[in-house]
Amino acid sequence: MDKEEHPKTNGETILVSACLLGLPTRFDGKSKHSQDVLDYLQREKLTPIPVCPEQLAGMATPRDKTFFQSGDGQAVLAGNGEAVSENGRSMNALFCRGAKMTLEIARLSGCCRALLKEGSPSCGVHRVYLGEDKVAGVGVTSALLLNTGMDVISEEDLK
Ligand code: SF4
Repeated sequence: MDKEEHPKTNGETILVSACLLGLPTRFDGKSKHSQDVLDYLQREKLTPIPVCPEQLAGMATPRDKTFFQSGDGQAVLAGNGEAVSENGRSMNALFCRGAKMTLEIARLSGCCRALLKEGSPSCGVHRVYLGEDKVAGVGVTSALLLNTGMDVISEEDLK
């Protein structure tokens, strides 16, 4: 996305993982409300656009937990990674759909920035789960947004 199209002004829009804003969108039906995130949005005078890529893909809440079996979000987009549910189902297609839906919302709302939930297979920015292990990597949605030139950070970058 061309950042020149969306100059930074007060009230600039920013995509935010819905769970960080307190919405119960997580796989376990809970939220990850973050006061740090709310404080940051207020301090920076940003207008949050809540997104949950997994719900946007049509997945139910609660839903099976997903983790990477190989690679990360970039690898999934490139066709050589695998995200699987705890029941062993391939989640690649659904996670790619959620990423595309989220990118579409970014375009419609003029977002060139995103603040997403660390560690998630969709929203992770610096780390994801490879099986049980937390490893360096990026979620599928974060990967797609980064590939379009968006500025993507996680709640951990606010500390
Ligand atoms: S997909 Fe992203 S927004 Fe949705 S619950 Fe998981 S971390 Fe939160």
